[in-house]
Amino acid sequence: MGVGRGHVLEPAHYAAEGTGAVPDGLRAGMVSAGMTGSLTVLDDVPTELLGGSVLEFLHALGGPTAFVQRGRHGAPRRVLATLIHGDEPSGICALWKWLQSGAVPYSDTLFIVGNVEAATAAPGFAWRHLDDERDLNRCFRPPFAGRQGTLCRAMLDVIAEFDPACLIDVHNTSGVGPAFGVTPEHSAQHESLMTGFSEKLIVSDIRLGALMEAATEICPSITVECGGAIDTYADNVAEQGFEFFLNAADPLRTGDRDVPMELLHYPVRVELKPRRTIGYGHVPDGADVVLVHDVERFNFGVVSPDHHLGWLGDDGVQALTAMSADGRDVIADVLTRDIGGALRPARELKLFMVTTKAQAAREDCLFYAIRADDVQW
Ligand SMILES: [Zn+2]
Repeated sequence: MGVGRGHVLEPAHYAAEGTGAVPDGLRAGMVSAGMTGSLTVLDDVPTELLGGSVLEFLHALGGPTAFVQRGRHGAPRRVLATLIHGDEPSGICALWKWLQSGAVPYSDTLFIVGNVEAATAAPGFAWRHLDDERDLNRCFRPPFAGRQGTLCRAMLDVIAEFDPACLIDVHNTSGVGPAFGVTPEHSAQHESLMTGFSEKLIVSDIRLGALMEAATEICPSITVECGGAIDTYADNVAEQGFEFFLNAADPLRTGDRDVPMELLHYPVRVELKPRRTIGYGHVPDGADVVLVHDVERFNFGVVSPDHHLGWLGDDGVQALTAMSADGRDVIADVLTRDIGGALRPARELKLFMVTTKAQAAREDCLFYAIRADDVQW
């Protein structure tokens, strides 16, 4: 079922258990539906909240919010999601600029502003998720348990009801690097969705419970990683990508590309095993894994066994795992420890999502790795 002009998306079943109905309008200061686990759904842009800064806008929203901006045409409807991670501001900053400019999209667009509570927690844009909550972008799959699960299911219900032709979910990486897209399936339509953002697209068979994975059941969907979270390059990528996506007559058919898409397949996540330790620096420091302090510079270049990525403790690569999509631990094919204790690629690799934040490495992963020959592990 679609959404007609002037209608509020059927709100009752989008609220979390016990949080009551979602309001059919939003006024600054009236944000009771902003409780975590519930989703405020608006049938228009909350323009009255756009006067201050982007953080003031988020404070006024008060919680996860979905709103529709009417386009010059009704279709093809598109969805743009931002801020699923609270410390990744490029998407919401680009959205705020877009709304402030008064621009009108080509067709009706549903915007989703995700983890508002984490983004607005002091000092602002500092937290991927609140301490006592799970990573929202791991909860878009059954059983949709708890407050985050309920919220994710509400977002998917709203998206399904909007009946979109396509969806883009905009993120930042925790480390510095070029922009790229991630998709669970590949087609010319998915490449078109990348227009304006990047010419790198990772086709991933890893399933984590991300929005883009679940939304693929509804329409062609991609995640865009715009680059580092505090990087004007990433902000520019988001702004340019939004302009293109929102103004395109058909984002799924944007014509021939000037630059061929660089497709990367079969990523694996290099993760720290439980109770293992990690550090970053210039010398081994007794941790199970130490990565060189500037390891981010390897993002998207080809690394070979000649490259020194850091140091491993006595247990070598056994402190790490790299699970393939079919459940094999391929870490010994990814990384190796030389006789001097140095951590090196076991073969030619492309690395991405390389972080130098120990907390991100512990909670999520050190980086993703792809065979440089683009062959399955
Ligand atoms: Zn993210």
